[in-house]
Amino acid sequence: MDLGLRDKVAIITGGTVGIGLAVAEGLAAEGVNLVLVGRDKTRADDEAARVASAYGIIATAIGADVATAEGCGAVIAGTKKAFGGADILINNAGTGSNETIQDADDAKWQYYWDLHVMAAVRLARGVVPMMKQRGGGSVIHNASICAVQPLWYEPIYNTTKAALMMFSKTLANEVVGDNIRVNTINPGLIRTPDWVKTAKQIAGEDGFEAHLQGVADEAGGMKRFGSPEELANFFVFLCSDKASYSTGSTYFVDGGWLKTV
Ligand code: NDP
Repeated sequence: MDLGLRDKVAIITGGTVGIGLAVAEGLAAEGVNLVLVGRDKTRADDEAARVASAYGIIATAIGADVATAEGCGAVIAGTKKAFGGADILINNAGTGSNETIQDADDAKWQYYWDLHVMAAVRLARGVVPMMKQRGGGSVIHNASICAVQPLWYEPIYNTTKAALMMFSKTLANEVVGDNIRVNTINPGLIRTPDWVKTAKQIAGEDGFEAHLQGVADEAGGMKRFGSPEELANFFVFLCSDKASYSTGSTYFVDGGWLKTV
């Protein structure tokens, strides 16, 4: 199936490892040119060069912290410089919080608000005008199943990802007349290098697979982690014109973990 994405430009925050990198490769395979964003500029440069060479597309790397206004400004300026604009924005950069309400201070809450919500707000301000100029676009917010089904040990994560979901819906309403579609994807357990690293820290080299399986068993449903590629396929489809009637929606890709309708 030709998804009609060839020669489009996509910005992917957190596009240098894990889910974001898998989305980058999925889009590159469809001929999309990329702006890969991460704080570690060396890793971003390396992955941009590797993906560009593997798929024959153009990829540029931006080293920026999207939890700051300056970082988001750098993403917009760098995209304009490299490609003149963008057709796709994947707001993916994010991380778990892992501190209880009693333990987390205001600064911690503020950081996650800036990373999960304000990054999306600030990038929308910069990207929507570029998309309007190009006749439309697609924005996808990577939230989490935790946005609707909270984990007790992730209160800041749960709360800020829920806010991101609402921002996504509200932005969709604001730009619906501009041919810009805005959707949210809520993943479940996705086996990223970070999950593996954490499992090894907890259970050691011999025990980490059993630890991960325990996490998956507890989640239920398919009782397994999804691969970044399984999730990335969904992002790629949603970016494309094949998903042209979808906006303001939330999609769960969680192997059946969600316990409600
Ligand atoms: P990883 O930790 O593997 O990757 C995170 C990416 O985001 C990296 O590229 C990292 O690069 C970048 N990043 C982190 N903070 C910033 C920042 N302040 N500014 C710019 N870039 C940043 O994460 P995952 O791939 O696991 O997760 C990606 C997204 O998916 C997150 O939003 C996460 O909440 C969500 N998610 C993940 C699930 C999972 O099971 N893995 C499940 C549900 C949701 P660098 O460190 O160089 O900045």
